[in-house]
Parts: sequence; C-alpha cells; structure tokens
Amino acid sequence: MPVALITGCSSGIGRALADVFKQAGYDVWATARKTEDVAALASAGFTGVQLDVNDALALEQLSERIQQQGGLDVLINNAGYGAMGPLLDGGVPAMQRQFETNVFSLVGVTRALFPALRRNKGLVVNIGSVSGVLVTPFAGAYCASKAAVHALSDALRMELAPFGVRVMEVQPGAIDTHFAKSAGHEAERLISEQSPWWPLREGIRARAKASQDKPTSASEFAAGLLKAVQQSKPPRLVRLGNGSRALPLLSALLPKGVLESVLMKRFGLGGRL
Ligand code: NAP
Repeated sequence: MPVALITGCSSGIGRALADVFKQAGYDVWATARKTEDVAALASAGFTGVQLDVNDALALEQLSERIQQQGGLDVLINNAGYGAMGPLLDGGVPAMQRQFETNVFSLVGVTRALFPALRRNKGLVVNIGSVSGVLVTPFAGAYCASKAAVHALSDALRMELAPFGVRVMEVQPGAIDTHFAKSAGHEAERLISEQSPWWPLREGIRARAKASQDKPTSASEFAAGLLKAVQQSKPPRLVRLGNGSRALPLLSALLPKGVLESVLMKRFGLGGRL
C-alpha cells in the first residue's frame, strides 16, 4: 500500500487531501498540531500524527517512525497560514513567524523525511499559492512566503532528481477552507489606531477575505490534485481552483503599473493619507 504524509490536516485542503488519498488506497499519515484534531483523524482511519511543523524534535521522531515502517511515497507540505496586514505594521517578527511556518518548516519537514522518500523514490508536493505569483497589498509577508515556496520547489526538484525523488509545486486559487478566518484573525492582531494604515482598515479586512472569492470546494481541489499525483509523469506545476489560471495570466500580461493601480483601488489605497 503506498504511503502519503500530509501536514496540516485539521481542516481545509489538508483534511480533504487526506480523505481522497485514503479513498484512493493510500495509507495516509495525517498530521495536526492539536491533540483533539489528531484524535479525530485517528478515529477517521488515518495514522494521526501530532506535529507542529516548527517543532524540530517532533520532526526527528516522525522521521524515525516513518523509516521504521518502510518508505514514503508522497509528502504533501500543506500546513500554512496567511499573515495579513501592512508589512511595516507586522515588521520583522510577523515576517519571521510567517516564514518559519510557510517556508523554513517546509524545508525542515522535507529534510526529515528525505531518507524515507529516497527509499521509495517518492514525490514531494509543495502547496504554494497564486498569491506567490500575483502580489497584493496587505499580504506582503504571505505573498513573499509563497513566492519563496515556488523558488524552493524549483531548487529541490533539481537537487532531488538524482535520487529519483520528484517535486511538484501547486498554486491553488481560491479554495473554500478556514484560511480566510485565520487570515482575518491575523489581520485583526495588527489593526490598531496607532497604525498609519488605520484609515484603511476595511481594505486590510477585504484582503484577508479575498482568498474566498467564489471558492472551489476543498474536495474538488483535492480530487484534482490526486489525479495530478497519480500521473505516470507528475507535472512540475499544478494550478487548481478559482483564479489559479486567470490571476497568473493577468500578472504576466498587464503592465505592472496598471495591475498595481487596480489592486490599490480594490484595497482602498487609491488616495493620499
Ligand atoms: P486552513 O483550513 O486554515 O488549514 C491550514 C492548516 O495548516 C491547518 O491544519 C492548520 O492547523 C495548519 N497549520 C498552520 N500552522 C501550522 C503549524 N505551525 N504546524 C502545523 N500545522 C499548521 O487553510 P487551507 O486553505 O486548507 O490552507 C492549507 C494550505 O493551502 C496553506 O499552505 C495555504 O497557504 C494554502 N493555500 C490556501 C488557499 C485558499 O484559498 N484556501 C489558496 C492558496 C494556498 P491548525 O488547525 O492547528 O491551525
């Protein structure tokens, strides 16, 4: 039975992927960071694993455990969140937290599971975002983190090829998950009367919600990704979900100045403060 390990399965894309991979006959190791989520995953028939992707010790233990049971066929680096708000309000600490979870841990998890992936000539699937291609205001840290995921995926693809381990980058568009809710919480942490961007708080809130613009269901997204993974030559890049093709196309075709003024208007940055 092929083995798949998916991070961030408490909700959304991760949970939907866990379901479709299990239905397709995979032994799914589904990770979550809260005990109650791990218990729910275990009772749904997955191998539930408690993992905060930033926890180096837990990663070491997981690496040993998975090697003991054999190899790993598919690793899906999915865990992540959107640090929304003005870049200078969040400053370096918010950037650091965003990069720790979305970027550094992706390398940490892949490194820890590389021996098991190498053994089975597995596939690494990195969940990037359309936001790493089309950058919006009030999501600078998030967009930068996903652009970094795309660049790291390219580097890893070339470096892991000699070992028979392949790498797929995924750029989801709008997918119906808890993402916008947690992005909204992130935005509210920064919104304050002391901020120079206080008058634009509704624009910040609108950006936090933007990922849920006519969203594709997580189960439809997961079914599409499973199909891509099962191809005999899995594609390097997969775009799935509302806006995942149109937005990169807009970004490539529109002059940057035009695109920026559209985005600035949309998120309330059209005037002077
Ligand atoms: P979600 O429902 O909020 O799920 C995010 C998952 O990541 C949750 O399981 C969350 O766990 C987990 N997570 C966050 N920080 C973690 C950490 N330090 N360690 C372990 N797990 C952590 O949102 P989602 O949309 O499914 O997000 C999944 C991925 O898709 C993310 O990488 C996101 O950037 C990407 N994405 C989403 C969209 C979209 O429109 N939804 C679009 C493009 C890309 P907790 O429940 O414990 O917080």
